[in-house]
Amino acid sequence: MAMKQFQAESKRLLDLMINSIYTHKEIFLRELISNASDAIDKLYYKTLQDGDTGLSREDFSIWLKPDKTARTLTISDNGCGMTQEDLENNLGVIAKSGSLSFKQENEKKEDIDIIGQFGVGFYSAFMVSDCVTVRSRAYGSDKAYEWHSRGAEGYTIEECQKDDRGTDIILHFKDDSDDENYSEFLDTYRLRNLVKKYSDYIRYPIRMNVEKSRLKQGSKEEYESYVETETLNSMVPLWRKNKNEITEEEYNTFYKEKFHDFANPQKVIHSSTEGTATYNALLFLPSQAPLDYYTRDYEKGLQLYSNGVMIMEKCPDLLPDYFSFVRGLVDSQDLSLNISREMLQHDRQLKLIEGRLEKKIKSELESMLKNDREGYEKFFKNFGLQLKYGVYSDYGMHKDLLKDLLLFYSSSEKKMVTLSEYVSRMKEDQKYIYYACGSTVERLDQLPQTERLRDKGMEILYLTDDVDEFALRVMMNYDEKEFRNISSDDLGLETEEEKKEAEKQGEENKDLLSFLKDSLDGKVKEVVLSQRLKSHPVCLSTEGAISLEMEKVLNSMPNASQNEIKASRVLEINANHPIFQTLVKLYDADKDKLKAYANLLYTQALLIEGLPIEDPVAFSNEVCSLMV
Ligand code: ADP
Repeated sequence: MAMKQFQAESKRLLDLMINSIYTHKEIFLRELISNASDAIDKLYYKTLQDGDTGLSREDFSIWLKPDKTARTLTISDNGCGMTQEDLENNLGVIAKSGSLSFKQENEKKEDIDIIGQFGVGFYSAFMVSDCVTVRSRAYGSDKAYEWHSRGAEGYTIEECQKDDRGTDIILHFKDDSDDENYSEFLDTYRLRNLVKKYSDYIRYPIRMNVEKSRLKQGSKEEYESYVETETLNSMVPLWRKNKNEITEEEYNTFYKEKFHDFANPQKVIHSSTEGTATYNALLFLPSQAPLDYYTRDYEKGLQLYSNGVMIMEKCPDLLPDYFSFVRGLVDSQDLSLNISREMLQHDRQLKLIEGRLEKKIKSELESMLKNDREGYEKFFKNFGLQLKYGVYSDYGMHKDLLKDLLLFYSSSEKKMVTLSEYVSRMKEDQKYIYYACGSTVERLDQLPQTERLRDKGMEILYLTDDVDEFALRVMMNYDEKEFRNISSDDLGLETEEEKKEAEKQGEENKDLLSFLKDSLDGKVKEVVLSQRLKSHPVCLSTEGAISLEMEKVLNSMPNASQNEIKASRVLEINANHPIFQTLVKLYDADKDKLKAYANLLYTQALLIEGLPIEDPVAFSNEVCSLMV
């Protein structure tokens, strides 16, 4: 019989299992029982869909058969079984579902991470076994096959005799060593406890014959032994249990195993509702964003059950995009088992559930924001970006739902604040909610434009994500207070008097300013004397709807080059800065030099904004020539 090689990745996983130093080897049982339950689910669902009335729920079960003499444990199910091909494809090749990626470094540490934190499935059998046999007969097939492996060297598959449908997994346990006791897995007492601990909610009975003893009839001291079949699990799915009967650890284990996360969830939302929509929902907020979360590869969705039978692995219609980070499941008796994906989308019941879940998630987030600020900020770090996209998307349709969940960094509080907190602190004469855009908080703190505002004690929101300004623009205002970019032309700060004074000053320097503008050759719409600068010499501001930040973002998008977007730029000069006197003097004395200075000042303003400068070499040469 030909020995076949494992696929390379499978072999690595297998090696990890065989040489595992992981202390929770007992989880092999959970993994194999969960596979057995999945196999029954598959068949049960299929027969329901096919309208096959020959099988009912009661016909399914999982058996544990320990055999101390042979040193084996057999885990049997009468689920869908596997064909010869299935055996080849499923057990010779690593499962896709675990989405494991192996790194060369940190092997030992990773060993623990992978086994403890992902569901590793079938291969975990090799943590405890030196040889594994799988005998399986697929539903509807009259042939059975046996898969056999001693581990890394490979596996064999051959035809075998098996009378009934389903799968037997036969583990031959390793010998006990000084540190490891494998024999305990032959012990019915230990097995019963393991099932209770890890697999209690499995919805099919897990049975085992247990040897017991009793007083012999009519005797007072003589005992006889007899065998009793026990059902080891309660079969109530976790989400149907009462909240106060479930420990945090149970939730955590369930989440990690089911959703292949390696960290505990940040929050569990367990709710059941009756009435117009009857369902149980068990939802989780992950404590970190999946690596692919902000990519196209990420698929949102909740597992969907119809009265305890899983009908869809990932039902996207249950979650709005802005809550796509939520993982979990919904079980409802109102959904038909036979419902197709297309029909599901239009299902009224499903829509109702979606609406309820959305409200529930929102209110949970709000209460977290109120009662666990630190936790909420952590959540927001992971998924706040998604909420902000949510505000912006669909032309702002969801802004009212989401606006109070947003956080932005505050210049005065030096931490993340909500819009409502900002508004509550606004000064009496403050017209606008001010914000500044840039790459980092540190950079924004240095921005010359913020000087006057901060001087007047105004709080500024620092926006550092690309989507931020777009989201605020879509919202337009909060609590009737308009948002205002600190670089826009009107900050609503000056008194009438100040305005007049500024106008007068501008008028007096009209010729100089227009010379500067001409020197810049169309790069700016205007050169003006600044009302927002205090100690810095120059800055850029904008006129009209497009800000510099929006210009940056829009032009960095794919296809942007076809239609370059330009903000209308205004170069602002601080009349109280000594450089201004120099400019005034040069206007009379040396117009060539003034022209060069105009370019230098403009370039500096670009640098301050973090915008690219057109000719860095010319700029450098210019500065050097001044230094010389
Ligand atoms: P996973 O369960 O995460 O897919 P496993 O390595 O545990 O990965 O199993 C690989 C595949 O083998 C399963 O997806 C399933 O198709 C098949 N399989 C495992 N155990 C059984 C079983 N008892 N009955 C039928 N198929 C099984």
